[in-house]
Amino acid sequence: MSINPCELEKNIGYPSRASFVVKKQDNELGAGVYTKKTISRGSLVARFSGTIVEKVVQHSLQINPTSHLHDPHFAGLLLHSCSPNVMLDMQGLTIWAIKDIESGEALTMDYASTEDFLFKQFKCLCQSDNCRHWISGRKEKVNEEGKAYLKSIQEKSLLRIRKTG
Ligand SMILES: [Zn+2]
Repeated sequence: MSINPCELEKNIGYPSRASFVVKKQDNELGAGVYTKKTISRGSLVARFSGTIVEKVVQHSLQINPTSHLHDPHFAGLLLHSCSPNVMLDMQGLTIWAIKDIESGEALTMDYASTEDFLFKQFKCLCQSDNCRHWISGRKEKVNEEGKAYLKSIQEKSLLRIRKTG
């Protein structure tokens, strides 16, 4: 059965419930898209679709500065990682694996790879070596909350260095 509304069901390449689990939760904990199959690096993960909207909304993805695709069913629910395992082609509306992905893993993308401005900036706990800790769009400045958070974790890491050094 298709994850998307029924009109897309017969189109090849759209995600199916046999291949993916979509978890949608209000508290955002555990929300995301998880694969039920192993996906090898370089392969097509899925096609996606949605409704074109003029502004950033929650679960939208930027096509260009004045067009955004609202997909609350699949691609709009992908989790962020600073070391993602998929990338989105916003012209072809396709998702590609940039790492080998094990069954049960969440599909993750870098939100700043598609968005100039995010619906909402947020704290990142992805734990990758290159984690930016605070995520904003590629054309927006870190907001006050983000600056304060980055300063606080910088101070914490300085304390840790002093203690161990
Ligand atoms: Zn991160």
